[in-house]
Amino acid sequence: MKNPVRNASSMKLDNMLQIIDRVRRAPVSRADLARATGLTRAAITIIVDRLIREGILSEQAPTPDKPGSKPIRLDLAGGGLYFMGIDISRVRCSVCILDTKGTPVTQTGFPLDRDSDFARVLPQIKDSMRQAIGTLNCPEKLMGIGVSVPGPVDTAAGVTLNPPNFRMLQGQPVLDQLREVWNGAIWIENNAVARTLYEKNLGVARRFANFMVMIVDTGIGSGLVLDGKLYRGTGFAGEAGHTSIDIHGEVCVCGNRGCLELYAAIPALLRRHCADRPDIRSWADLAGLAAAGDEKCLAVIHQEAAYLAHSLVNTANLLDLEAVILTGSITCHPELLLDSLRRQVQESRITGAIHSLEILSSQAKAEDGAACAAMIALEKFLAGETGWNR
Ligand SMILES: [Zn+2]
Repeated sequence: MKNPVRNASSMKLDNMLQIIDRVRRAPVSRADLARATGLTRAAITIIVDRLIREGILSEQAPTPDKPGSKPIRLDLAGGGLYFMGIDISRVRCSVCILDTKGTPVTQTGFPLDRDSDFARVLPQIKDSMRQAIGTLNCPEKLMGIGVSVPGPVDTAAGVTLNPPNFRMLQGQPVLDQLREVWNGAIWIENNAVARTLYEKNLGVARRFANFMVMIVDTGIGSGLVLDGKLYRGTGFAGEAGHTSIDIHGEVCVCGNRGCLELYAAIPALLRRHCADRPDIRSWADLAGLAAAGDEKCLAVIHQEAAYLAHSLVNTANLLDLEAVILTGSITCHPELLLDSLRRQVQESRITGAIHSLEILSSQAKAEDGAACAAMIALEKFLAGETGWNR
């Protein structure tokens, strides 16, 4: 043991974070915590009492009709710690602060457009950050800030690379700029990563350890969680939109042929299959008409399911996933698509007879981008990377 002081303090932090994470998933008793973590009851008591004193955990009231019949369960206190999210999309910059339960305590933002200029927008982003931080009674309880952006990002340098159709964010040192407002822990990620972390922590994927989140919108992106952890590969994992579903298909801008995005991204789908229907300009139009019984629209939704199924079966067979979560505009009226997709995937999947693969629609709304970004900071906090309690 080269550095016993550091090791002891690091172990203490790990134990505290482990307890916060367990309670965050579902209220538990002290005895449950001892069983789940392997810590002694005495150690649990010391840590839990401290977290209650700091306003991070609270004790749930006993059941009124049977007082004392069950051990008191611990829950998150809500306001103990805070996480900020900043989502910069092509149409809006949104800023929010969530508490440990994921409840928004403040939200703000402003519209953007394709002609927005980063130098001109930056003061507005900084003002929104100051405004949000200003609403906190204890700004020192802000644990970190997550920033999400479209397109590839150099996460280590905090610099955006070359997001398609978004000139404003070409090669911008976003984090260096934002540190002028807040010099604490801050990270930047692609918005597919942020959406994946949202599903993992607050969304429908909370019960899964191996899943993919697929964003189907103007493009197709995805994020992977394997063995309970975000999978990055060498940094850019999750380009499901650029996996091929047709080796003879057209050449994509990425250099591959027959990429999923060329068929199943919503504008591509409508261009291919609805060019003769000027009344269909969005997925919402298509799904609404299909739900009303329009045969042509039903066929197009079935075709979209076929495109997605082809790709999902490949990924599910390769990684043996438990679940796929669809998010983005395609989750507007998702029932018809999901029915067709589940059927087609189940027919083709190699482990179809062994275990289920759940295909679900995200409950996140388009306006939840900042909450998704805040999950970047929450994940870093739970990994002990925010500097909390050191
Ligand atoms: Zn491609």
